[in-house]
Amino acid sequence: MRYRALIIDVSAKSWELREYRLDEVLGPIDFGIKLHLEDVESWKRSPYDPSNALVLGAGVFAGSKLFGCHRVAVVFRSLETMGLHVSTMGGVAYKFIGCGVHAIAIVGRAHKPTIVFIRGSEKGVESVNFVNIEPHHLESIYAGYGGRKGAYALEKWLIDTFWDYISETHARPIVVGPAAWRTIFGALVSVDVDLTRRDLVEGSEEFAARGGPGSVLAQVHNVAAIVAGGTWRPQLPTTLLNMSELSKYVSDALGKDYSSAVTEATTKYRYDPHYGAGGTFGVNYPHYRELLPLFNFNSIYLRKEIRKRIADLIIEHYWKPFKEEVFEKSKVWRTCGEPCPAACKKVWRGKKVDYEPFEGVGPLIGVMKLDKSVKVVDEIDQLGFDAIEIGHVIAWLLESVYRGLLEPEDIGISERPILDPLLLNVDLWSRNAELALELVRGLVNKRTEVLKLVAELGIRRAAKILDDRYVARVSALGLRFEDLAIYLPFGSHGYMTPNFYWTPGFLVPIPITGRYWTNYSTTFMEPEEYAKTVFVRALKEYELDNAGFCRFHRGWAEKILAKLYECLGVSIDIDEHAKEMYRKIVEYNVKADAKPRFLESERAKDVIVTLATELGASEWESKFSKNRDDALKEWWSRFAKAFAELLGIDPSYAEL
Ligand code: SF4
Repeated sequence: MRYRALIIDVSAKSWELREYRLDEVLGPIDFGIKLHLEDVESWKRSPYDPSNALVLGAGVFAGSKLFGCHRVAVVFRSLETMGLHVSTMGGVAYKFIGCGVHAIAIVGRAHKPTIVFIRGSEKGVESVNFVNIEPHHLESIYAGYGGRKGAYALEKWLIDTFWDYISETHARPIVVGPAAWRTIFGALVSVDVDLTRRDLVEGSEEFAARGGPGSVLAQVHNVAAIVAGGTWRPQLPTTLLNMSELSKYVSDALGKDYSSAVTEATTKYRYDPHYGAGGTFGVNYPHYRELLPLFNFNSIYLRKEIRKRIADLIIEHYWKPFKEEVFEKSKVWRTCGEPCPAACKKVWRGKKVDYEPFEGVGPLIGVMKLDKSVKVVDEIDQLGFDAIEIGHVIAWLLESVYRGLLEPEDIGISERPILDPLLLNVDLWSRNAELALELVRGLVNKRTEVLKLVAELGIRRAAKILDDRYVARVSALGLRFEDLAIYLPFGSHGYMTPNFYWTPGFLVPIPITGRYWTNYSTTFMEPEEYAKTVFVRALKEYELDNAGFCRFHRGWAEKILAKLYECLGVSIDIDEHAKEMYRKIVEYNVKADAKPRFLESERAKDVIVTLATELGASEWESKFSKNRDDALKEWWSRFAKAFAELLGIDPSYAEL
């Protein structure tokens, strides 16, 4: 078997097939790294240059009967981090693989907004077609079509307009929404298609969002959608195609029955009897409780008793109504689009509810009512935003108003937010949902000068400009804009915000953050020990993504990945291969001026420092209390040194 990829030049409207030996390119991430680092050398130019290839591809197990192996990985140079980034979306490869290749790379820039169609037959790629769409037409679809708007409307329009093509090829469109054209926070959006009802499958929507791949597809390549499908099937051994053979092979490799291993490993995501709920929303709230990040992470400064009281309110007002409806009454559970016993998509009144989007415009900004946050999440999704990033943007801007750095009119909101955690008043706090909705719409329309800055430049660069613009407020309050934002800086301009966990894991010097390529448990330890745990997870998560596996299946898939590759005749040391690829990502980012830099925001520093106190790491607690910045620099640079040693690179990959 070879890894097959299609390079599609949307300026020249041409395409070229490439094939790679599996010891050279084992999956979509390897292909993306190779293309960016060695072929197009995108680090040499601006990330807005058309050489910034958008690579989108399946793992080599796509087309098999393995559970959870149809994730698509997207590799691109992020307009946020300025370095190479990887994002993924579930289930999409299940239909995409029919187009005749494992992966595609979009290069060049189309003259007009374009939809790329790729059709595969038994022999491979049969045709690639380019259909232009006038900007005003695209806008009118985004404004409303088929009862939806934004990205969802575009996908519905594609289904209706190109129904013959879609019904023949079973293609599942991948689209961008307005956020991708007007901000750097745009996601790739794909909702599964119900071919019988000729409609979108409610609850199966997937987003490749972190780092903004949608913005790269739209703003760099002028592409609005990719529609790929067909009848091609990769040549896979029968062991991976015949369910009973596969079951025996996996059971032998695991030393336990395949289906019980899958059930056990995915309990959290399907249904955990301990909580009487499942899915990330269903489990994270009762699990993390007083460790949840609340009020733009201001919870890290609160006494545990107060945090416990707020957590009780969250459980009562936010989590219980979800649990009752989704696990006791309606039980609408969906998959991402591939057959999967975990069915992790839990649907509440027609909307898929996951922890992070509902945390970002939920308790992170004081909102603890599902009927309020669901409207904001739905708006974020339809506009095609990265929900985690936009959660940070909203929380940061609202707190900037709350603290007096901004006035409500600076960001186009109708009143001051209510962000006092000591109020213990769910009704009052939940009023912030309306302001969040105003902000989401304001950002996509760049309604004020401040919102325009944030939408186009991201949090880090906008914060520095705002420090100058509002210098009097900054000096009167003794507070800079970036002090309220939480991110890891990369090079001169890049940054990435963390996922919503109280952990150092997203703020340590690693080349790719904002994803689970780290240890994100609530822990604090010696930097050398912590570096080891982050290193292991970074490699393992890369391995899963590169193989196209859903990380919710990591509990069993990770253990037998090498054995699964053996089935394809690949016998390489997967961990060594992962190390090599990870080193290349570091190499790319060093060349692209995207080295991880020491934290520059007070809040980001405090996320780590307060955790040491919370967890009783007394030696570090006392070091931090004597001189927080010096001690944190020591911890952070010792981490970088240890991480570099593990990876076999120079510690200068990170900047103090
Ligand atoms: S656990 Fe969820 S995201 Fe993963 S394969 Fe199953 S349905 Fe898809």
